[in-house]
Order: sequence, then structure tokens, then C-alpha cells
Amino acid sequence: MESKFTEAHQRVSEDGYESECDKVAHLLDLMIDGEASSEEQSYFNTHIEECIPCFESHHKQKLLKGLVSGHLKRVIVPESLALSIKARIQETV
Ligand SMILES: [Zn+2]
Repeated sequence: MESKFTEAHQRVSEDGYESECDKVAHLLDLMIDGEASSEEQSYFNTHIEECIPCFESHHKQKLLKGLVSGHLKRVIVPESLALSIKARIQETV
């Protein structure tokens, strides 16, 4: 599972994060709080399109937190995708 994403994990970004995935994890927090810039949101979206581990873990987290807090209005995924992830979460609960 890791072999395909080795490149992204080994790269150290100029921002001081250990990997792009670490940076994306930080961006996720900003987005959940509604504090991410549009530039940061597009970085996040671009990354998770290429990084399946981030896509799965971060979107589940985001959806869960969004559902719990109820303040997440700006859903960054297509509604159909959000619904399918929601369905998968509910299946495992
Ligand atoms: Zn990643």
C-alpha cells in the first residue's frame, strides 16, 4: 500500500512539515475550523486526489466532525461522494 505513495512521504516541504501528508493533516484542522484560505483548500483538494490514505482518513474525519459540530457548511466533496462516505461510516459504527 505504501509503495505507490513513497515519493510524497519522503519529500520534505519548505514549510517545515515532515511530508505533504503532515501538511495536509494540518490544513484539515484549519478547514474544519473554517480558517483555511482558498489556496490552502485547493492544496488540500489536490493532495487528497492523489493520496488515497489522506483521502480516506481525512474525509472520514472531516465528515464526522462536520456532522457532529453541525457548522460545516462548505463541503469540499461532491454530495454523492459525501453520502457514500457517510454510508460507509455508518456501516462500521
Ligand atoms: Zn497524503
